Amino acid sequence: MGYVIGLQCRECGADYPQAAVHVCEECFGPLEVQYDYDAIRAVLDRDTIAARPLNLWRYRELLPVDGEPTVGLHSGFTPLVRADRLARALGAREVWVKDDSVNHPTFSYKDRVVPVALSKAIELGFQTVSCASTGNLANSVSAHAARAGLACFIFIPDDLEQGKVLGSAIYGPQTVGIRGNYDDVNRLCSEIADKYGWAFVNINIRPFYTEGAKTYGFEIAEQLGWRLPQHVVVPTAGGTILPKVDKAFDELRRIGLVDGPRPKIYTAQAAGCAPVVRALHAGSDTIEPVKPDTIAKSIAIGNPADGYYVLQTIRESGGWGESATDAEIVEAIHLLARTEGIFTEPAGGTTVAVTKKLIEQGRIAADESVVICVTGNGYKTLEAVAATVAKPAIIDPRLRDFDELYERLHSPGGQEMVGSNAAAG
Ligand SMILES: *Cc1c(COP(=O)(O)O)cnc(C)c1O
Ligand SMILES: [Zn+2]
Repeated sequence: MGYVIGLQCRECGADYPQAAVHVCEECFGPLEVQYDYDAIRAVLDRDTIAARPLNLWRYRELLPVDGEPTVGLHSGFTPLVRADRLARALGAREVWVKDDSVNHPTFSYKDRVVPVALSKAIELGFQTVSCASTGNLANSVSAHAARAGLACFIFIPDDLEQGKVLGSAIYGPQTVGIRGNYDDVNRLCSEIADKYGWAFVNINIRPFYTEGAKTYGFEIAEQLGWRLPQHVVVPTAGGTILPKVDKAFDELRRIGLVDGPRPKIYTAQAAGCAPVVRALHAGSDTIEPVKPDTIAKSIAIGNPADGYYVLQTIRESGGWGESATDAEIVEAIHLLARTEGIFTEPAGGTTVAVTKKLIEQGRIAADESVVICVTGNGYKTLEAVAATVAKPAIIDPRLRDFDELYERLHSPGGQEMVGSNAAAG
């Protein structure tokens, strides 16, 4: 049995039963899942959670499924890494990396939202699942649909990284590449969802899908020993994860699992696609859509569906936001890899680069705690850094040749010749 009361419009408060609907019939506002928090408070405590398997369903009372979850039994509970070497480089004291680059099975934060969406789709009786994606969502829907035995249609822009395209195709969905950007793909998919009646995870079953993102916040609190951080820096694409991290902290306080002040939430966007940061800096509530132009393709959404709620969350929590150029993103990918041994894709580079700015600006004080959200894996986007990493020094399999190489490396200027520790550019 679940603890969901129903769906409610975020704008006018109209109530709806649980179904594949995502906008209010009265006012076109987005619908949000409502829970019976008193009932959850009575049954859910820290020990109960601690005794459960290390996956995202350990918080199941706060997720919108009614029966047993059927998808994603190995997803979530990714490492929260104390990043002291990165902290030193950033000039801060307590830095944590929440590392979804190793999420299961497709190495991004999307392995949180998809299990909730597909478990719900199965409960609602769907047999075909689908999504509009910048790559990671397609990978995750394809993999989880394969394991659940669901038919799967994937819609992506036709210019994605190889690793992202192949990382869906291997699971055998029908992939459709659209000539256009993500916003074009999304518009087409809304029409297809209406006509074909499939479960589009980020369209008609979006209210359930977005709830999965809360598990990122639940885990941060639990892994800090049921403590809330002071600052959290989150990348923004469509704007799902950022407000849900805040909602997660709020729910944990409501049911009595944590206390203390509300963490300040910050958005990180690529300078080549920063509609939310622009509105934030302009003090405006209106997000002007932009045409994306950045290497951070997974967060290149020019017209973010939940951008307004990202702004609202940032302002209410006392946070802020910044953008990072492609060069800063690449440099930050290198920095995270060299200091912490974590290889992220440009979205994670964006978050690290923006955190650096926020610390430099003094918005995040050097002696306070900050969690950096690393949401995707660098092995999928090798193109982004290929030109900036050192090439191997090639020699014949002879000791003499290695001796010569070693000599050269240790002579003045040798490092540069071989470029063994090249900085990003
Ligand atoms: C989808 C995605 C995000 C954030 O997307 P939202 O739509 O804002 O939730 C961030 N990083 C990566 C790697 C992603 O794939
Ligand atoms: Zn409404």
